[in-house]
Amino acid sequence: YRKTVIAGNWKMNMTATETKKFAEELKKIMPRAKWCDTLICVPACNIQTAAKAFKDLRISVGAENVYFEEKGAYTGEISADMLKDLGVKYVIVGHSERRQYFCETDTTVNKKVHAVLNAGMNPIICVGESLEQRETGITDEWIALQVKSALYGVPADKLRRCIIAYEPIWAIGTGKTATAEQAGEVCTNIRATIRSLYGARVARSVTIQYGGSMNPKNAAELLAQPDIDGGLIGGAALKPDQFVDIINAAN
Ligand code: 13P
Repeated sequence: YRKTVIAGNWKMNMTATETKKFAEELKKIMPRAKWCDTLICVPACNIQTAAKAFKDLRISVGAENVYFEEKGAYTGEISADMLKDLGVKYVIVGHSERRQYFCETDTTVNKKVHAVLNAGMNPIICVGESLEQRETGITDEWIALQVKSALYGVPADKLRRCIIAYEPIWAIGTGKTATAEQAGEVCTNIRATIRSLYGARVARSVTIQYGGSMNPKNAAELLAQPDIDGGLIGGAALKPDQFVDIINAAN
């Protein structure tokens, strides 16, 4: 079947020093048995610090972005091989903040998905509609298009390593969550899109996360939806107690 994956996305937060402090706090309250995979995506400069600090906690470290070219004259960019070499297993691709502020398009997202897969890592592919798109009634078409574009050219055996994160833009950092039904419905449609491309067996194996103001209060209800298999958590993943509460909600 498919894995439940609880992932933090720290965005541009936490210094290396704060990362170590966070891990110390987490050590005191982390449940001993976890039935979900747990990871935190951190700023690239703190990946090594985080990997060391989270090792005993069995929390994997992920990256928040990658560049799609293999190597060369791309000042300031970081390649998939560089991340892989640091022990990174997951890379967020196409977060709405990157699409909005850093010119990511469906085309660059697709190239990054291929780069992450080719390096043997797992992409967490973010999709989501704006408030305007939801109100116009084009959410389903929009999300289907984003999913199809991101997965263009990805063969079925590699799709098993992809996670799709549904993050409605209007719910990110706003305290406004999609209702469990709203979120569940879109995630069901995402699985239907994958089924149409790859068939039912592959579609059943793909982990689909919800993200957008997920917190200890709403996590259980969201995770109870049949097609929501985890969360991508921003704000609440910066607080050890809240992150643990969400992990417990997934157990
Ligand atoms: P918040 O949980 O802060 O709304 O952020 C969600 C998100 O964008 C995770 O990638």
